[in-house]
Amino acid sequence: MTYIIAEPCIDIKDRSCVDVCPVDCIHEAERILVIDPEECIDCGACEPECPVEAIFPEDALPDKWEAFVKINYAYGEGEGFDVVNQLTTAYATEHNVQNPPLE
Ligand code: SF4
Ligand code: SF4
Repeated sequence: MTYIIAEPCIDIKDRSCVDVCPVDCIHEAERILVIDPEECIDCGACEPECPVEAIFPEDALPDKWEAFVKINYAYGEGEGFDVVNQLTTAYATEHNVQNPPLE
């Protein structure tokens, strides 16, 4: 199991989760942060820190955000940020994501 970062993080990226992760497995791409599933130890520390509730245990990810499994895993599978960025941009365009900035 791992944790997954989903749509609400797109263009928000306040990095609250990064500060609490004990194994530094949350990585910053262009428009979203992603969790490396190989490194994540499932501690759950990041989930309550996210101001927009973007972080879920993989088995509790809402179905509508299933695409973010692939986006997070793309980094961990060594495909790196290029694939993460491509998939995120394609998703954001298709779903017209316009997350309002944090106040
Ligand atoms: S569950 Fe724990 S190890 Fe995994 S990304 Fe969150 S803080 Fe890091
Ligand atoms: S705390 Fe939430 S919005 Fe902020 S970077 Fe992490 S996942 Fe993204």
